[in-house]
Amino acid sequence: MRILIIEDEKLLSDSIRTLLTAQGYEVEAAYDGEEGLMYAKMDIYDLLILDVMLPKLNGYEVARLLREARNTTPILMLTARSQLQDRVEGLDAGADYYLTKPFDRRELLACIHALLRRQGNQVAELSFGNTSLDLDTGMLLCGEKSVRLSAREFDMMRCLLQSGERNISKERLLTRVWGGGADVVDNNVDVYIGFLRKKLARIGSNVRIEAIRRLGYHLEVSEPC
Ligand code: CA
Repeated sequence: MRILIIEDEKLLSDSIRTLLTAQGYEVEAAYDGEEGLMYAKMDIYDLLILDVMLPKLNGYEVARLLREARNTTPILMLTARSQLQDRVEGLDAGADYYLTKPFDRRELLACIHALLRRQGNQVAELSFGNTSLDLDTGMLLCGEKSVRLSAREFDMMRCLLQSGERNISKERLLTRVWGGGADVVDNNVDVYIGFLRKKLARIGSNVRIEAIRRLGYHLEVSEPC
């Protein structure tokens, strides 16, 4: 497992590196946002540990630019700030988890293990109800029936399946699927939700995509009548 630390405080960076190296991880470090982004874009890491307050590009910008480039490496964001607003900004930018400084090493390791487990098991499919999405082929499967998803449909279905019964906001879907580019309108989400509903129906899936005003979307299993 290879981890990149993007953190300008040399002492903190070194101590994280020592801790993780002792755990058997391969660790590399970048000391400003630009350098970090350049390394991260090589897409060879299993996890990024990303500080928010960084020279050149801050952590939010780094996360946003990576997600816009369709890089899905999990991001553990570190910051000295703990206000809710910052946390929301970090998650919106594409961070997967947020750890407030100062943190203790057990807390850091627990987060890292959780994030790597989530991603590292390289699940070949995601399932909900009687339906699954094959992550290698992009096929949506239900019993004997299957239907191929387009790239956008696939990205969106994957986000929905990862959230399952939890709501995922329209903004987050936009950022995740379209990278939050300026030319994207949030109607796109509705359009693709429509496509996915049709395809779910076509294969006889019992999975429903529910929309809740202002909260976004989640999945439900419909009971047979
Ligand atoms: Ca810093």
